[in-house]
Amino acid sequence: MIEIKDLHKSYKMGSNALHVLKGINFTVEEGELVAIMGSSGSGKSTLLNILGMLDVADSGEYTLDGVPIKNLNETKAANYRNKFLGFVFQSFNLINYKSALENVALPLYYQRVPRKERQERAMKYLDQVGLKEWANHLPSELSGGQNQRVAIARAMASEPKVLLADEPTGALDSKTSYEVMDLIQKINDQGNTILVVTHEDDIAHMCKRIVYLKDGVIVEDKKVKQVRASAHV
Ligand code: ADP
Ligand code: MG
Repeated sequence: MIEIKDLHKSYKMGSNALHVLKGINFTVEEGELVAIMGSSGSGKSTLLNILGMLDVADSGEYTLDGVPIKNLNETKAANYRNKFLGFVFQSFNLINYKSALENVALPLYYQRVPRKERQERAMKYLDQVGLKEWANHLPSELSGGQNQRVAIARAMASEPKVLLADEPTGALDSKTSYEVMDLIQKINDQGNTILVVTHEDDIAHMCKRIVYLKDGVIVEDKKVKQVRASAHV
């Protein structure tokens, strides 16, 4: 599903450059649930943003579902992004004057999904995250955990091949974090490929594989026995 080879990325800092990714190689098969771990500043978000086509690498190869991601113009990149990728962020990134249902439906509007289908799909995915009854509520009327579930429903409504989550539990307490991980595990159980950036060990062990980043390289990449989040909620 994902194949990257010798990926490098630097940020220009005046006349200097900060070399953040120094030759990353890895492959993710369809259906995997991978944690990307590393201390703050180790390049986790940089890597996820490149995988998510929100940023581009300086060099290296990236193939997503058999498509080489290179030299794409903005339109093509946006099309692939919509077709292949769903995002979840630490801060939910919901629009605060729109209801849960409207938030979930909004990306479908930009993908030109007809109105009726947008509503139906948004409701279907809100239902899947257990928030059907909250469809008409604003983010300010929901808890942090509920808002993250709305954000997950919004990502899943576009039916992406890969879900990318950057510290999805970073703003949540442990109990709520496990509820969100329970949902992520259930989505993965249905066959979806998911990458979760985290710096929390317990969250990483709720995935099936852990990739450790340090100083811009992968220092360890191991399969783990998955801890089910439902045992903790
Ligand atoms: P992580 O997500 O693991 O905390 P990041 O990928 O966000 O790490 O950042 C890695 C390093 O790159 C950090 O030192 C950070 O300050 C730097 N960095 C991230 N984004 C930028 C940017 N847009 N411009 C300059 N430096 C950046
Ligand atoms: Mg980060």
